[in-house]
This record gives sequence, structure tokens and C-alpha cells, in this order.
Amino acid sequence: MSHIQIAVDGPAGAGKSTIAKLIAKELNYIYVDTGAMYRAVTYFAMQHNFISETHLHTKELIKNLSDITLQFRFNETLGFAEMYLNNENIEQAIRTIEVSRLVSKIAEISEVRAKLVEQQQQMGQNKGIVMDGRDIGTVVFPDADLKLFMTASPQTKAQRRFEELIEKGQKVTFEEVLQNVQERDYIDTHREDSPLVKADEAIEIDNSNLTKKEQFELVMELVKDIL
Ligand code: C5P
Repeated sequence: MSHIQIAVDGPAGAGKSTIAKLIAKELNYIYVDTGAMYRAVTYFAMQHNFISETHLHTKELIKNLSDITLQFRFNETLGFAEMYLNNENIEQAIRTIEVSRLVSKIAEISEVRAKLVEQQQQMGQNKGIVMDGRDIGTVVFPDADLKLFMTASPQTKAQRRFEELIEKGQKVTFEEVLQNVQERDYIDTHREDSPLVKADEAIEIDNSNLTKKEQFELVMELVKDIL
């Protein structure tokens, strides 16, 4: 087998993107961050006032879904693909705590999921892909060659997200981030459509006490067994 599909799922801050990016780079595969796509739809919904902390106009958003065009464009300087919404670079805008607070409500909407899943499946048609999210091994690529389910302790997850946000210059407290990660995980695991669950065949990796190098070596062993 020369090109495979690798699905990486798990809760917020479990270190999915870190390992997914490393593996994709090593194999020269495409890396897709599906969370960015749900964040982009959330950003669109915020801009059009379909969602705020106090309201959600689901029907209006659904009616306007066809106005959303999402693209990942590789940024040579940064070394990763940035998220574009209708030709506008929204990579920074989608990483804010405001978007994080609303994204799980948008991700509950089946019509939104259907649109994004279709696009994700197209991206993976030719294999050679590492995709991370919540439903990749269960819904997007149920036949993925390798399925990973990343976990970490709640403290570790919140600490990682907190450090990421601070690094990006955001003004947030650890408590805010911890609360956000817990709320999102609750909604993501309890929603009706495509909840976050470990696929039966997925290999669970708790990386609370693993270095990046240790995780990378562990996953590369699994990849080599398949290739
Ligand atoms: O991965 P990230 O934390 O950026 O994802 C943001 C949110 O997008 C998640 O909390 C979840 O609500 C939603 N999501 C999803 N399905 C995916 C990826 C993300 O529902 N495949």
C-alpha cells in the first residue's frame, strides 16, 4: 500500500494537530484540520449575526450555507495551510476564544456537518492524507487505514490550549480556557449527529506523559506496519 488515510480524533487540546502535522510532514501527505472548517462556518455565522452568546438562528444559517466557500491555502513561509472563507484569510480570526465559545453549537447542526463532511471526503479521495477532528474515523473515513484516538488529562488539555492562545497574543485566563474546553467536549460527545466517540478499531493514545518525539515514534511504528 503506497498511500493511506490516517484519521486522528479526540477531544479539544488532546494534541491531535501536533501529531497529525508531524506525521503528514514525514510522509509528505496532506494535513487537514477539520476543526478550522467548523470554526470558519462559525465565523461566517457570527459575521451575519446568525449566532451570538444569546441567540442562534439555525434556519437562516442553513439557508445561507451555499454562500460559504472554504479553502485551505498553503502558506510557504509559515509551513502550513491557512483557512480561507470566500477568498478571505481568516486563519487568525477563527482561533479566538469568541469563536471557540460558539463553535460546538454550530457543529451540532446536521446541514453544516453534511456540507463539511462532503468536502472532507473529496480531499481524501486520493488517500495520502492525515485528517484530524472529532468524527474522522467514524463518519468521514470509516474505512481509514489507521485510526488514532488521542486523549490527555483535562488539566493537560486546558494547559495546552491556554499556551497556544497566549502564544497567539490572546488575552485569556487559564480558567476561561479550561471551562471552554470542558463545555465543548461535553457538547461534542453528547450531540446527536456524529458525536465524538472512539471508533472501535481506533488506537487510543493518552499523551499526557509522552513527549512529541515519543508520540511521533509510536505512531510511525503503526504507520510502517500498514505500509
Ligand atoms: O479542532 P478544534 O478544537 O479547532 O475544533 C473546534 C470545534 O469544531 C470542536 O469543538 C467541535 O465542536 C467541532 N468539530 C467537529 N467535528 C470535527 C472537527 C471539529 O464537530 N471533525
